[in-house]
Amino acid sequence: DAAACTPLEVLGRDVSVPLVTGGEVTYAALDYAASAPALQRVWDDVAAYAPYYGSVHRGAGYLSQLSTDLFENSRRTVEEFLGCRAGDQVVFTRSTTDSLNLLAAALPADCQVFVFETEHHASLLPWRDARVTYLNAPRTPDEAVATLERALAQREPHGPALVCVTGASNVTGEIWPVRELAAAAHAHGARIVLDAAQLAPHHPVDIADLDVDWVAFSGHKLYAPFGAGVLAGRSDWLQEAEPYLAGGGASRAVSRREDGGVDVEWHTTAARHEAGSPNVIGAYSIASACKALTEAGFDRLVAREQELIAKLRAGLAEVSEVRVLSLFSDDAARVGVLSFVVDGWNSSHFAAALSAEYGIGVRDGLFCAHPLVRTLLGSDPQEQGECGAPEAAPGQKSLNAIRVSFGAGTPDEHVDRFVRAVG
Ligand code: PMP
Repeated sequence: DAAACTPLEVLGRDVSVPLVTGGEVTYAALDYAASAPALQRVWDDVAAYAPYYGSVHRGAGYLSQLSTDLFENSRRTVEEFLGCRAGDQVVFTRSTTDSLNLLAAALPADCQVFVFETEHHASLLPWRDARVTYLNAPRTPDEAVATLERALAQREPHGPALVCVTGASNVTGEIWPVRELAAAAHAHGARIVLDAAQLAPHHPVDIADLDVDWVAFSGHKLYAPFGAGVLAGRSDWLQEAEPYLAGGGASRAVSRREDGGVDVEWHTTAARHEAGSPNVIGAYSIASACKALTEAGFDRLVAREQELIAKLRAGLAEVSEVRVLSLFSDDAARVGVLSFVVDGWNSSHFAAALSAEYGIGVRDGLFCAHPLVRTLLGSDPQEQGECGAPEAAPGQKSLNAIRVSFGAGTPDEHVDRFVRAVG
């Protein structure tokens, strides 16, 4: 019964994990930026539908019709969630990575791409077949806009261009000036895609209001289970491109030619890029999460998250060995994602100790954003020692950090436990 739980209740709150010291403790999931726990409401919705699912777009039976409706209604829900404009299309993909690779495969010929070196690899790497300009890490949001403007001003005008930018960093949690970057892109005749993998779970993302051309996000970071993502936005480039995958569902009509070859007429809807049997449960769970977040209200979610961020930052500020990694200044707007290093500690050992001794799940590493983390840690090996990323083992450099991240359903106790453990 979906109505029985509060809208932002998450699964797994009572899971106990063993401690190295003996005994057990409830798991503190502080790795939402990698994958957030699913909302109870999403799980209930999926469970209620599970006995009835059938093939989508491929069956005359009642349950096939029901599943087709559910799939297409999920698309409508995502359109509403993102505030899509008339003519925008929502394509269901596997993930943010998949969405951005789809867009990369659909770029018009001679498209120039502009991307900050600070991006997650999912938004940094898919464009390598295009002409890419990598922009240096800015140290303020204003500098980000100025850097982009400078680069765009130097581009050869007239040809197509795309800017790819992340809305909230998966390393620092800092929020980027998306609206301003979009205005700069458009002023120079470029388009912009927003990687909202980290922003959408924490903030409303309105495609028309931000005036971005596309938005990409993943279900598993938006409190839905794994397996589905979204690319939403302008249809023209997508519809002029070859289908991302060739196969059934993407094709409207296929016939043999007299010369022995095959003619294909591809769909001009989102289906063009959704070949194969669609992931109806994935799409439905994303739609369910979108509804739950909307009903709960982002105001409430943001206010609660800001409380936890303040508590976390105040706690870490008390520990002199901790250095929080920031690109922008301390007062930059941020979501519940924060990375740091601890003087005298190898980050991987530290994260392992948080798990083994306190039942706290965080992430250590370079967070699929190697250039950014290296910039934040300081790439000079001499400096690495000073900034608290010492040698992991003789001859092996520790050049990584620890990331803590949270969101809906995170109790105070998890953050309190974390601060106590670090201290
Ligand atoms: N972009 C950002 C900012 C991310 O944080 C992530 C996931 N860490 C991705 C893209 C990729 O998401 P996925 O692994 O779901 O494709």
